[in-house]
Amino acid sequence: MHEGLVGATGKVASWLELSAGALATNVATLRALSTETGGPRALGAVLKGNAYGHGLAQALPLVHPLVDVLYFITPGDALAVRAHERAFGLPARQVLVLGALDAEEAVALAYSGIEAVLGDGAWPGLVAELRRAQVPHPLRVHVHVDTGLGREGFTPGQLAAGELDFLRDAADVIRVVGVLSHFANTEDVTEQQYAESQLDVFEAGLAALRARVPVQEPVQRHMAASAATLVLPRARYDAQRVGISLYGLWPSVETRLSARLVLGRVPELKPVLSWRCPSQVVKWLPAGSYVGYGCTYRCADATRVAVLPVGYFDGYPRLLSGKAHVLVNGRRCPVVGRVMMNHVIVDVTHATRDERPLVATLLGQDGDEHLHAETLATWAQTINYELLTRLGAHLKRVVAP
Ligand SMILES: *Cc1c(COP(=O)(O)O)cnc(C)c1O
Repeated sequence: MHEGLVGATGKVASWLELSAGALATNVATLRALSTETGGPRALGAVLKGNAYGHGLAQALPLVHPLVDVLYFITPGDALAVRAHERAFGLPARQVLVLGALDAEEAVALAYSGIEAVLGDGAWPGLVAELRRAQVPHPLRVHVHVDTGLGREGFTPGQLAAGELDFLRDAADVIRVVGVLSHFANTEDVTEQQYAESQLDVFEAGLAALRARVPVQEPVQRHMAASAATLVLPRARYDAQRVGISLYGLWPSVETRLSARLVLGRVPELKPVLSWRCPSQVVKWLPAGSYVGYGCTYRCADATRVAVLPVGYFDGYPRLLSGKAHVLVNGRRCPVVGRVMMNHVIVDVTHATRDERPLVATLLGQDGDEHLHAETLATWAQTINYELLTRLGAHLKRVVAP
């Protein structure tokens, strides 16, 4: 199952494996859901956070042919899509930058036909810069309505008060093609009262916008991230911005429970990522030996340990010390002692028969056992989103079928 103990770099180091098949299955599952209440709708992939830790360079070629829209936080990542399309002769996808922009970035996006979110007070200044740069066509923007998250965007009150009226005289450099918002509370609950109120505010915001500012119709409305795509049909609108579930994970336990209630079934999502690590050392420690910093673990009996060259520098949280296990030959092997910066020590006494090099699975499937990102995240007192996005950008990532 493993192509070797040493990565292509020649180093003994952990690596991440992306399953192209799992990703395609998740896209198909989400697309079926998003169209079953009418459609067709656009399904978009959120690739922020280094594609949720999966690696943008590896994820982009897999995702690009499968979805209609690509979402990023930073303009640099969005521009990488156009470079990818040029390099491989691919059609240009709709690309939207969700994050904040400076003037130079706004100009670069206009030149590249990439869309931007208008969600803060910087835009009157950006309009002046776009005009000075004589952009060849107007920058296509989506107005962010703050419907109750309290993050970026304009409330319906601000829109009705004319905060975006500068757009009336900016048609030469800006075209409003979309309107979006973001939910505050869809993942944390199994009833969607607050989300319903956000949907009402969204519709009021859109009406306020249309009343004051030229909007290109049909304007693209989008509000649903993974959770709402899965369990809140009213939020599906014209496009969905799916992040975590594209990668095969549930936004939360509550969302999974809600799916059972709302859909009457739980759609299957397949985790895309596995994390494997070859051993650096496998050896016996005599009974009574201490393991790791702080001597927090002492072997009751003679113990065969594997030293894995992976640690909190790579994104394996220190909070997993003495709590997690890894999989070796389909068996659970406890992490003994503390997780170190570049090392983890596991007890492999019952998982191996000798001291030959081995490969441990830190995340993913080995035999009948599956270590889920949710499980590691819970042990580390965080959520799967944080666990994934903190996986080191330096880790080697390989794509498997
Ligand atoms: C991160 C993000 C998403 C995707 O959220 P998931 O829960 O990962 O699907 C969608 N929209 C916005 C604005 C985001 O910031």
